[in-house]
Amino acid sequence: MLKDILQIIFPNLCINCHQTLVLNEKLLCLNCQLELPETQYHLMDENSIEKSLWGKIPFQRAFSFLYFNQEGITQKILHELKYKGNEDLAVLLGKIYGQRLKNSKAVEDIEGIMAIPLHPIKLRKRGYNQSQAFANGLAEVLEIPDYSSLLFRKKNTATQTQKSRLERWNNVKSVFGVKNAETIQNKHILVVDDVITTGATIESCVREIIEKSNCTLSIASIAHAA
Ligand SMILES: [Zn+2]
Repeated sequence: MLKDILQIIFPNLCINCHQTLVLNEKLLCLNCQLELPETQYHLMDENSIEKSLWGKIPFQRAFSFLYFNQEGITQKILHELKYKGNEDLAVLLGKIYGQRLKNSKAVEDIEGIMAIPLHPIKLRKRGYNQSQAFANGLAEVLEIPDYSSLLFRKKNTATQTQKSRLERWNNVKSVFGVKNAETIQNKHILVVDDVITTGATIESCVREIIEKSNCTLSIASIAHAA
């Protein structure tokens, strides 16, 4: 009752088109969900994230839920995640992507998930880790354990945007650590990031995990800025 009254006074609106959400819709209306620019990378024999990472790090597959385009729906979604603390949206996206991935060859032998950690200072500022929330949604639908707590950051990295590729690489070099690495020894782990641009962060993280645990890794992200 109270919920119904509140719904009339403060209706839940779609974060993209701002239409009032109807029963069973959450955060994104069905129309906008259908308009998400999905990459379908996991269904391709090879995709542009994989091509950009080949020769840099060993991995099995790499795929991303959405294409990132300036001023598009992905941009709005990322803004919600980064600046409005919309953790529920990150989980929802993980669940939707989990449904897409489930039963596909790309994830058939994945045994666990690891979200790339935010530095504690950034985490305090944002209130949550969007990669972790996305990973939670994925893990729930794919029914795989979450090993994210084994991954940690050693120091805060300066902002990446104003730097060259080499500077970025140096900047993220060995900032990650893995504890209790024997837990994931020889497993196939899905490493999850929010947005993959140059892939420098993921490279650094993947190197550290493989060095410490000798596992097989695949990579997933919310969006790919190609
Ligand atoms: Zn909408």
